[in-house]
Amino acid sequence: MKKTLILIAALILSACQQQVSEEVNLYSARKEALMKPLLDAFTSETGIKVNLISSKADALLTRIESEAANSPADVLLTTDAGRLHRAKLAGVFSAVVSDTLIDSIPSQYRDSENLWFGLSVRARPIMLTAAATQIEITRYEDLADPQLAEQICIRSSGNIYNQSLVASSIEANGEASTEAWAKGLVANFARSPQGGDRDQVRAAAAGQCSVVVANTYYLASMLSDTENVVDYQAASKIKVIWPNQEGRGTHVNVSGAGVLKTAPNRDNAIKLIEFLASDTAQKLYADVNFEYPVKAGIELHPILKAWGEFKADSLPLTKLGENNARALQLMDRAAWK
Ligand code: FE
Repeated sequence: MKKTLILIAALILSACQQQVSEEVNLYSARKEALMKPLLDAFTSETGIKVNLISSKADALLTRIESEAANSPADVLLTTDAGRLHRAKLAGVFSAVVSDTLIDSIPSQYRDSENLWFGLSVRARPIMLTAAATQIEITRYEDLADPQLAEQICIRSSGNIYNQSLVASSIEANGEASTEAWAKGLVANFARSPQGGDRDQVRAAAAGQCSVVVANTYYLASMLSDTENVVDYQAASKIKVIWPNQEGRGTHVNVSGAGVLKTAPNRDNAIKLIEFLASDTAQKLYADVNFEYPVKAGIELHPILKAWGEFKADSLPLTKLGENNARALQLMDRAAWK
């Protein structure tokens, strides 16, 4: 009798512990409202509760580093391969061996040592207004053509998206050629860099410039919000050009995630990332921010479909992180503010 009671008590205790451990702590640089439906779907499929901490990308990494061994974080989800690489260099990630992730995510969109995995793709093409008639623009390299003087709007060099774009050019064209290109590009600026990608689209629509470099999801988001008439009309004046289709392809980047080496709930962390790479989640995850799914064969949002198919640069995105410091120095030398 006594033995049975002890056994029952032990079973109850282990059941309670199991319940407590069925959670995962996600540090996310994406807007909470965007992530919530996806995380709810994960919980209803697996029974694993997600505790979500949302903050700015760089602040999250700093927080993980300062929490060190005491960090409750299991997964860091952030944007840009450059940032994912910074987290890798900071030593906060732990490698994940997962056939599911390797089968779902093309190799160029995940870390070569399996420390982080891309979950959505964003392209950074060239966008034009009808006023851009000086030359036919088909490549990023064309942006340095002196005929485009005072025509280009692009955000500052402090922005990681531009650093990653320059990093990809270093890989394709070498450092000296990229530096000459960056100088030519800066010489064509219509104004000193200011604002985010949406602001470049707004400036072009207002006639301040005719050529913009921006991430696709910003334009899609402006096009989707018909209630914001000003932005909708601005975005409607912009045409997307897929650069370098004859060569390396259009520059792309990812949002992605890695499991932290101090993760208290490692197994659940892996399950969460695997879920985000599943067919259902890929569709939702891409659509919440008007991105491209990282996995092949997933239907695109209609706004993205309307821009047509394009060839993406197949450069392994780890290179964007590896070239980041050189890119920054180069942009500095080119006086890219
Ligand atoms: Fe962004």
